[in-house]
Amino acid sequence: MAKIIDGKKEAAAIRAQIKSQIDKITIQQTEKVNLDVILVGHNPASEVYVRLKEKACAEVGIVSCKHTPPTDIALKDLLLLVDQLNEDSNVNGILLQLPLPSHLNISKVLDRIDPIKDVDGFHPINVGLLSQNQAKLLPCTPAGCVELLDRYNIPIQGKHAVIVGRSNIVGKPLATMLLHRNATVSICHSKTVDLAAITLQADILVTALGIPEMIKAGMVKEGAVVIDVGINRVENQLVGDVAFAEVAEKASWITPVPGGVGPMTIAMLLSNTLTAYRLQQTKS
Ligand code: NAD
Repeated sequence: MAKIIDGKKEAAAIRAQIKSQIDKITIQQTEKVNLDVILVGHNPASEVYVRLKEKACAEVGIVSCKHTPPTDIALKDLLLLVDQLNEDSNVNGILLQLPLPSHLNISKVLDRIDPIKDVDGFHPINVGLLSQNQAKLLPCTPAGCVELLDRYNIPIQGKHAVIVGRSNIVGKPLATMLLHRNATVSICHSKTVDLAAITLQADILVTALGIPEMIKAGMVKEGAVVIDVGINRVENQLVGDVAFAEVAEKASWITPVPGGVGPMTIAMLLSNTLTAYRLQQTKS
């Protein structure tokens, strides 16, 4: 029976560390660390995520400021808002809550964010730095996955890590991070032929595909470490991409949903905001 990787507990520990570091900045230097969030329109899931992020910021002493342009905002006006935040020296981090309404080109907006304030790590410069293993601001969810493995002393080097899902925000950056940690990495996606044949080889299996409980016990090697990034709402309950009960019978370690990767994503966002603040201090 698998042991639980408790993301909720680890995220709380990270938040406590960040709080003590932010307390020092605000008390000794009488400065504030600031995260500005842009939430376009009224996507209900996005509104929930932003509320969670605001709450987490408040808990550690990061000042968060929310900008809520209407759904029909023109691209040029959204870019203008990003420009204003880029220029404002009181703003340390800028987070663009995704998805955006379909008339807005996500890349154009993400590319406009000053890379030194890009707390999601999605700007092409930060993506490039990650590719060269020189990243300072890593995408939050994959960083949270690696942090969990490290905090549970789960070895990565030499292991076969299989990632199901190739999104720019999870699958691809996670593959790069695990490669830098000397894992042998396979990336699977919707066009992969015989998915189970590949997932069965995984020492570390990460699922980020967004299909409720699609990964069954028969797709998992005995003793594998299973990190479930998926967050899917089914009959008003959150479930992962992994059929938790049956896979837990086979895995050595497993993350629950909720309480696994989700809280780590937010903890990494706070950590990136503090890193961004420090990068800006050393730059000026
Ligand atoms: P996405 O929705 O952009 O893409 C899904 C990926 O899964 C694609 O690469 C696709 O090729 C792959 N896929 C789809 N069907 C497949 C199949 N049958 N077999 C193999 N691969 C398949 O991905 P995303 O934005 O990374 O989100 C994935 C999941 O992770 C979602 O449930 C999302 O809610 C969740 N998520 C959670 C967090 C967190 O903090 N825990 C953060 C981001 C995303």
